[in-house]
Amino acid sequence: MVRAGMDDALLEKLHEFWGYSEFRPLQQDAMQSVLNGRDSLVVLPTGGGKSLCYQAPALCMDGMAVVVSPLISLMKDQVDALRVCGISAAYLNSSLEQEESRQVLREVRAGKIKLLYVAPERLMLEGMLCMLAEIKLAFIVIDEAHCVSMWGHDFRPHYRELKELKNIFPQCGIHAYTATATEEVRSDIAVQLGLQDPEILIGSFDRPNLTYSVARRADRFSQVCEVLDRHPEEPGVIYCISRADVESLSESLNDAGYETRPYHAGLPDEKRAANQEAFIQDRIDAIVATIAFGMGIDKPNVRYVIHAGLPKSLENYQQESGRAGRDGLEAECVLLYSEQDAMIWKRILDDQPDEAKKTAFQSLQAMQNYCHAFDCRHRHLMQHFGQDLDQDCETGCDLCRGDFQQVDDALETCQKILSSIFRQDQNFGSSYTAAVLKGSKDKKVLANRHDQLSTYGLLKHESLSTIRHWLNQLVSQKFLTKTAEYQQLRITDSGWRLLRGEVTPQLMRTTEQSKSEKARPVKKQSQDANWEGVDQSLFEQLRDLRKQIAGDKGLQPYMVFGDATLRELARDKPKTQAEFLEIWGVGQKKCDDFGQQFLECIAEHMT
Ligand code: ADP
Repeated sequence: MVRAGMDDALLEKLHEFWGYSEFRPLQQDAMQSVLNGRDSLVVLPTGGGKSLCYQAPALCMDGMAVVVSPLISLMKDQVDALRVCGISAAYLNSSLEQEESRQVLREVRAGKIKLLYVAPERLMLEGMLCMLAEIKLAFIVIDEAHCVSMWGHDFRPHYRELKELKNIFPQCGIHAYTATATEEVRSDIAVQLGLQDPEILIGSFDRPNLTYSVARRADRFSQVCEVLDRHPEEPGVIYCISRADVESLSESLNDAGYETRPYHAGLPDEKRAANQEAFIQDRIDAIVATIAFGMGIDKPNVRYVIHAGLPKSLENYQQESGRAGRDGLEAECVLLYSEQDAMIWKRILDDQPDEAKKTAFQSLQAMQNYCHAFDCRHRHLMQHFGQDLDQDCETGCDLCRGDFQQVDDALETCQKILSSIFRQDQNFGSSYTAAVLKGSKDKKVLANRHDQLSTYGLLKHESLSTIRHWLNQLVSQKFLTKTAEYQQLRITDSGWRLLRGEVTPQLMRTTEQSKSEKARPVKKQSQDANWEGVDQSLFEQLRDLRKQIAGDKGLQPYMVFGDATLRELARDKPKTQAEFLEIWGVGQKKCDDFGQQFLECIAEHMT
């Protein structure tokens, strides 16, 4: 088949089964590799649409595709989501009863299954491999492929055995998928899986539909409520560092009338599972969780992720905040941090070998720098992962939106700060330095006779927290560093250049305007664009109908239709099955199964 013909066939499947009309970036190339039988390694961010890269080609090829996945909890969801689109899929893992497994195997042998999801340890059993050798195997997919690498954040020893697959099925294409961005892990995946001359496709890690903002945590509860109030009846995740914070924040929010549930590793298994389920099924507003929450959650319509405490690395932040807006619709990521968070992490991370500790502390510092940086947040994240942006995001982050204001006399202010640090013999940390510059009568300052310094009280009109914020900004811009042990501030080479007036720093303060604007939804423009013409009350009725159908069929609501489809239905208000089928996200099977009910709901609303 020539490429154009292949593309047409793939687009046809996309339209028929999923109701989509175009490829997302790199999907087309990834699908071509599958069709051509060439091994591939595809790196796309969360929500990039990795699953379709192999699901659509499987429908164009003879035989069955095997998908190796480490997440038992996700397999059922993935299979349910495929079946509801009319695709014959099944899974094999330890959660199945023996008879259920036998039934799946019978269907596989009879050639009735297009996509089989298998846990790695199950796939590598001799009996399983023998059976696969006897049937027509289209290709093998290794999902969450970073699990094969010790360098990844989720190494699974069973994944190492998958290297044998290339020897056992040499004629079969092997396709690895991951969202992990680091170079080291990527190369390791190709080696560990024995991929042969793989096509390597690396997507952009930017998530343009996400809006990032960072604020110092002043009053956690009200700052969190502000975000929740922007998203009435929309699902979100609130991350806290500790279990105690999870419990207390969830409780206060519930007392204030929000519906949230806690999630952390200290809860009994059933309770944790029930809380997660309530969230996935849209029965509560938000889940308040530690980082234990998230793996194995595929919920596409998370509209906000709040970090009520500092994450321990940008890798963690990217992954956790990345759970927002998988469906491509606008979503916001708000990070609330305090200097103390870094100290808490340091205590937690302290208990490990020196080398690991050093790396962990560096990652923590990179996270802190993100909080105090002034470049576009999208760009900052991208650069951390070795990519760049053509242009700043304009409205996709607090900095580009102008929520901060440049301090006019930045150079002079910074020179005052640095010269104070110099006069203090570079032996003190941020709080102490801020106290000196503020002209505080702090006992320690007086005992050290630092009230005699010429820099004492030079910034007396600023608050202590503003001065501390500026000190962090200078660390982030590398004019200062902090010593590892006591966090003493030291002047760097560029700091000395700053003192000589050879370089100009950036210094920001939060604008009054941004404070007063907090009540309005962030990224209003894009929200308007997405909601333009949408009949909101119809949207809500459709959402209720979706919940009801999902409940009846034992599905997750998003498997029935995504939010984008509901919005389009509430905008275009189709009257016939043919019009219904034209809606984005409506494939033939879903049109047949759910069309009537949705059309009736729309018609009723119109009368
Ligand atoms: P990933 O595994 O990369 O995080 P998914 O495969 O779960 O992403 O896809 C995220 C969402 O995007 C899913 O709801 C999926 O159906 C949707 N999607 C994928 N490809 C397309 C496309 N070409 N057009 C529209 N939606 C798509």
